[in-house]
Amino acid sequence: MSAIEPFALTETISRICPDIYHPAIARDGLLTRLRIPGGVLNELQCRMIAELLETIGLEYVQVTNRANLQLRSLSQDLDRDLLTKLTECGLAASNTAVDGIRNIMLSPTAGIDAQELIDVRPLAAAWLEYLDLHPELGSLSNKFSVGFDGGGSVGILDRPNDITLLAIGKDEFSLHLGMGNRGEAPQPVGVNLTTDECLPMLAAIAQSYLQGITVIGGDTRRKPRLRDVISDDGLAEFGELVRREFIGSRQFVFKNTSLDSAKRTLRERDYIQVNNDLHLGAQQQRQPDRYYVGVVLLLGRWTVAQIKGLESIAVQYGSGTIRLTPWQNVIIPDVRSIDLNTVQGLINDLGLVQTATHPSSLLRACAGATGCQFSATDTQADAIALSEYLAAQFTLDRPLNIHFSGCEKSCAQPDLADITLWGEAETSERGSRYRLEIGEVRATFEQESRDLLPPERIPIFVGKLIEDYQQRRLDAQESLPAFINRQ
Ligand code: SF4
Repeated sequence: MSAIEPFALTETISRICPDIYHPAIARDGLLTRLRIPGGVLNELQCRMIAELLETIGLEYVQVTNRANLQLRSLSQDLDRDLLTKLTECGLAASNTAVDGIRNIMLSPTAGIDAQELIDVRPLAAAWLEYLDLHPELGSLSNKFSVGFDGGGSVGILDRPNDITLLAIGKDEFSLHLGMGNRGEAPQPVGVNLTTDECLPMLAAIAQSYLQGITVIGGDTRRKPRLRDVISDDGLAEFGELVRREFIGSRQFVFKNTSLDSAKRTLRERDYIQVNNDLHLGAQQQRQPDRYYVGVVLLLGRWTVAQIKGLESIAVQYGSGTIRLTPWQNVIIPDVRSIDLNTVQGLINDLGLVQTATHPSSLLRACAGATGCQFSATDTQADAIALSEYLAAQFTLDRPLNIHFSGCEKSCAQPDLADITLWGEAETSERGSRYRLEIGEVRATFEQESRDLLPPERIPIFVGKLIEDYQQRRLDAQESLPAFINRQ
């Protein structure tokens, strides 16, 4: 274990994607992230996060779309005592070099999903241990990310990880690599692995990626992503590099599989719909008489009171753990049926909702103008205003997804939303208007100039749109973009 060095701000702010030892400077202050490998928090860790927020004077922490935790608006760096406490309870890596690459995503229902083929939690633990033992991998991009999908009903294959291992049998995984554009789901490369072969394969890919970085070299602030290295080498050549690093007898060749087949895989499992519906509310676990309860956090914001409240519920009625989801929500697992009503009532008492159709669960928003210099609009405030308006006006009968983005980079949600509001800077009214798209169709507004919508008109416009959609769609299966396309 390497000792934690004093946290000298001027020396440590060096990365665009921050970790707990290397914050970034944002418009609203310092920004840092707690990597939560696998997204599972125990009782001690929940208490530590609440204590951390109280110590540094923050009202809430934000669950990210990688199921990590983000702290913003920090006025100063975390001191050594806090970092030591975070390390001791597993919220930060003891080896400072690898804290940023502990991006290990699991289905938030791993081990409890009634449909899953393989419980992938032991694999994630083994990969975390490998990272701790290999500080040289700290040279990889902090965005280097590995996902383990056990093949259950709540899947993460559509999340844009660099590597995803998808269970496709009782002892078989399909290897998927991120190769396309930013935000695209990883694609299968024609290699299936046994469970025992997964860790050697990950190690071989990571080592090959490391070699690719030294070849590309150059800018140390923006390190190449795995997809850059694959694009530079070519998939077949990169696969050959991996094969030479791979410890095992299997022979393999990485092959491009068509985008169509990747899309088909997604459609077959109907991930997006399933994820929206099944990670929220009370759901039966694979264990007899045990349920998990998914809870919505508006824009991923988790206040001190809510952390303490949910932790108390998890300790009293569950197994003391809380799981973070890549949809910026949380799950309390292991609740007995006899306690379900009590648990759901206590969650309501905290002011939290549990359904995918509640307006609080529809929204994604990037940092916006208060936190990001590139944002033309205050996406967070505008999203909250829309949520409050919709909650007062509507009962939705199917989940929708509404995404506010301050610029084209689309940090909060790389994939397509039902409705996307893009902040657009105007020379005369900078930071005050949105371009609106329904699926991929750009909306125009009769009463507005140049088809841009000011923030104060968004609630009424979106409300009318949803009302029209709910009244005139063909049936409950017709999505909002399909409805608009049909018009
Ligand atoms: S989407 Fe653009 S404006 Fe929003 S946080 Fe990312 S870079 Fe900033």
